[in-house]
Order: sequence, then C-alpha cells, then structure tokens
Amino acid sequence: MSEAALRREIVAVAQAIDAAGFCPSKSGNVSARFGDGLLITPSGLPYARTQPEDIIHLALDGTVLAGERKPSSEWPFHTAIYQARPEAQAIVHTHSPRATALSCARRGIPAFHYMIALCGGADVRCADYATFGTPELARNAVAALEGRKAVLLANHGVIALGGTLAGAHQIVSEVENLAGQYLDLLAAGLEPAILDEAEMQRVTERFAGYGKLG
Ligand code: 13P
Ligand code: ZN
Repeated sequence: MSEAALRREIVAVAQAIDAAGFCPSKSGNVSARFGDGLLITPSGLPYARTQPEDIIHLALDGTVLAGERKPSSEWPFHTAIYQARPEAQAIVHTHSPRATALSCARRGIPAFHYMIALCGGADVRCADYATFGTPELARNAVAALEGRKAVLLANHGVIALGGTLAGAHQIVSEVENLAGQYLDLLAAGLEPAILDEAEMQRVTERFAGYGKLG
C-alpha cells in the first residue's frame, strides 16, 4: 500500500473508533508499520480534524522522520509492540467503555465465548498498571500480549494488533463487545461457563480457514 493510502486508512480507522464511542476526550491512537518504522496519529488532535498530512512518520526508536505535529504520547508501546511482534502491521488503542470498565477492576476476559479466539488465544489478559506514555507501560503491554493480539491496560483501556489496520480495528471492536457481555454476565450474578483449551484450539483452527481479518 502507498504511504498516502496508508495515511488515509489510519485517519479512517481513527474516525471510525471515535464514531463508535471508543475514544472519549480524544483518547486512543492508531498506527501502521511503514518501511522500517511506523505511521502514527498525532497527540491530542480531535479525530474529526485529523487529516492524512497530520500523521507522523516515526523510526522504531521513536525518532520523528516526518511530520509537524507531536506523535501520540503512546509511541513507546506502539514501537515496542512492532519490535517484539514482527507479524504486527497495525495497532489500535482505545478507551472503549466496557473494556475500560473491566480494566479498572484489573481483570482480563476469559474464554466465556468462542470469539475470544479472535484475540489469538484462550483469553485476553490485563496488563499491570503503569502511567500512560511510559516505557514501563510499553513493557507491561508487550509482556501481557505474549501469544495474543489484544490486551487490556489496567485502569486505562485496550490495545489490539493486527496483520492489517482492518484486522486490528475488528479485534478492538470485538474486545469491547466481549467485555460488555462478560460484564453483563457478572452483573446478573451468573457464573460464566468457560470453554477449555482444547475447544479454543478447535475454534482457532476453524478460524484459520474462515476468512477472519485478525
Ligand atoms: P494521545 O492523544 O497522545 O495519542 O493519547 C491518547 C491516549 O489514549 C493516551 O493513552
Ligand atoms: Zn490511552
């Protein structure tokens, strides 16, 4: 994909997560791997006003290669994930309401529904708390993402990675859906029945031939 097309797609995904209500007070950020580095949304700029030329080109060490604006404050976890996960081509971070509520209890999402497999394994973990924008948060996120495509950030929100921007967008949306269902179960006082590892393995194998974006 050309740089111009990638910049347009980053803006489109950022505006879509905003329209879905996943980014209160201009939270969240979006990036895509580009060459040896990445393209990432600027810090604090409302998505409705974000244009493709506002996207910043960073090296994997965080050096600004092109762009007038300040890169997202979360560039440390975006760069750390691209370094740790060669298959990651895109990253979407949100403060979507139900997943964020769960993160504030520092609880992950178990395999109460088979769609958890979209997130890469048998659960979505919750990473240990660290202040936003810090290398410590980046380390905690990478650790809790091991073998997974999504993670909750304690008292903060969600990160999803994908092989494409559309894939990362789909996963971050599904995490919000699953977190909502899980919270509804807990609020009703019901005990979720958890699918075992063997069943989650079967689901993962079926997904492989099913055309999921992940
Ligand atoms: P930025 O606007 O700097 O990307 O920060 C938003 C956010 O969600 C911080 O965690
Ligand atoms: Zn955030």
